[in-house]
Formats: sequence, C-alpha cells, structure tokens
Amino acid sequence: MQTHQSPVWLKAMSQTSKIQRVEVYKDHRVQLLLSKFIGGEIKRIDPVFDNKQGYKYPVVEAIVGPSSDIDVFLNQLFKEEILERELYDKVLYCPNCNSANVSVRYRCPYCKSFDIKKSSLIEHVPCGYIDTEERFQTDDRLVCPRCNKRLTKVDKDYRKAGIWCTCNECSKSFDIPTASHFCRDCHKDFMFEDAIYKDVYSYTLGAKAMKEASLGWVLIAPIREFLQARGYKVESPGHLKGASGASHIFDVTASREKVHPNVLVFDLATSNDDEVTEQPIIAMFAKIYDVSPNRACVIGVPKINENGKKLAVLYKIDVIEAKDQKEVLRALETLGI
Ligand SMILES: [Zn+2]
Ligand SMILES: [Zn+2]
Ligand SMILES: [Zn+2]
Repeated sequence: MQTHQSPVWLKAMSQTSKIQRVEVYKDHRVQLLLSKFIGGEIKRIDPVFDNKQGYKYPVVEAIVGPSSDIDVFLNQLFKEEILERELYDKVLYCPNCNSANVSVRYRCPYCKSFDIKKSSLIEHVPCGYIDTEERFQTDDRLVCPRCNKRLTKVDKDYRKAGIWCTCNECSKSFDIPTASHFCRDCHKDFMFEDAIYKDVYSYTLGAKAMKEASLGWVLIAPIREFLQARGYKVESPGHLKGASGASHIFDVTASREKVHPNVLVFDLATSNDDEVTEQPIIAMFAKIYDVSPNRACVIGVPKINENGKKLAVLYKIDVIEAKDQKEVLRALETLGI
C-alpha cells in the first residue's frame, strides 16, 4: 500500500535532528559564526589556500581558534544541517610529511625521468604534413618543411594537432607522460595512489538554520535588554547548577539580588511547522526540577500546541507565544516579569 505521508521514523528523525541542532546553537562558537551570517558580515565561507597546510578557513579560525580542528567543527555543522556545502576543490597532501606544497611531475614513460620537453604538434592542412611546432619555425614565421609554404592562419591552413613530448634523458618520444608528485617540503616523490586526497568545501548557512537562528537571535537580544532594564544580570546561554550537582543550560538566565523573583530561566522553542510540540516544555521541566528557579518560561515561536500548554500549567511553567520582538516584549510585560 502506498502512502503519501512521511513515515513515522522519518518524522521522528527530523525531530531528533532539530533537537540536536538546538543543542548546537547553544555553542558559543556557533552563535558567533551564525551572528556573522545573519548580520550579513559573511555570505559564504570560502577556503583560502595555504602552501603548507592546504586550505584554511580564516573566518572560522578567528572564531574557533587556530589550534582547534576546524574541519571537525564545520563537518558537524554540516551534519546538523546548519551549514550547506559545495565542493570547492580537491587537495593533495604529501603522505610523508602532510604538506600541501606539492607539485606535479610529468615523466617519460620509458625511463621515468621528469626532464621532458613538451611541444605542440602542427598539421599543415593543404599537404597533410604533421610535425612539432619547432620544425615549422623559421625565423619569426611558420613554414611547412614538406611543401615550403608559409602557414598563415590557425584553423584555416594549419591546425594544432595535440602535443608531443621528448625525453631529454633517453631521447624517446611519446604523447602522454606519466604523472607523479613531488613534495617541495620533504622532497619525497610519490604517486597519486599514495597521496592523501581530500575534498574541500565552501559553506553557506542553510535555509532552515537561517530561520531558526534569526528567530533566536532576533528574539533573545530584546529579551536580554528587557531584563537588564529591570536590574537583572543576564546570561545567554546561561548555565545553572542543580541540586543533583548537574549543570543545566538555558537559552537565557537572569538573576538579581534582593528583589524577588531573583532567578529566571527562559528557553526558546521554534517550529518549522506552525506549532511547537510539548517536547521543550518537558525538557524545561526536567531542568527546573533540578535547578528550582523562581520562574521558568518557554517562548514558543510562533505557537505551542495544546498538549504543551496543558503540561506548562501543570509544571508551573510560563508560556509565551510570539512570532516577533513586539509580541515577546508585550508578553513579558503581561506576565509581570
Ligand atoms: Zn612531504
Ligand atoms: Zn626517457
Ligand atoms: Zn605543407
């Protein structure tokens, strides 16, 4: 039986990957990178070639630090569907010292010397004579050695007929040389089959992530300001230790001394469909059960489903439904935060 609905496991999988993405968004380095995309500072992360290390990503290095494994970082963001990638180049590394400062050596297939001379082959069309370009060269003009006529226009009375190589070592001639590689750093010669050969990508921000991140970015900034104006010290993301000793992460934590309520926690939940599920409410409950803040709030963008709202009442979690800054601020006022 055919069905046009996506299978349950697929739905479950995309839900899981979204939860994982939300976790990744909490990484400070990811936030910095995304803010550059959303602010328009970068549109695309292109690799820049470095002779020794091969391709590097200076924009990412500036955020993550040069000692970190940039490839692992970018690859994770690609797997979580935060970044999209496109093949930019392939890069060859020396198998002996890992340098990318590698040249190609074209060699004589007979004696393997790389001291070969490359010539163009020319065909004189009217008489059909073919030879290397030097054999036609007379002073500053080309003259056919067979019929002694002057060659005037390429593709008219003569044409290029490929290449011809001659070995300076063994004097043999051939049309296709064999290739090997030479490491300019450790001076090792090696063949393609021993080389380290890697894909290099350009990265752009995925459409889904753009939506999720700009919502987060657009909403978290005004929440911060709102709370700061009320005397709170705000962290985003914020870490709080629970009674169990475990540390929990919230999208925003706010604290102030003396004035009650003095510890607030916020989580932002976005949905690509029109409703956020009860999942973020359940996740919030698990954390506040351990942390016991004065107030906890889940901000659903744009809405939270009925089940979620019922659970929120049961768990004493405030719910804000908003799709933009104005609605969030109005709801914070209404809640009397
Ligand atoms: Zn090497
Ligand atoms: Zn040779
Ligand atoms: Zn001729």
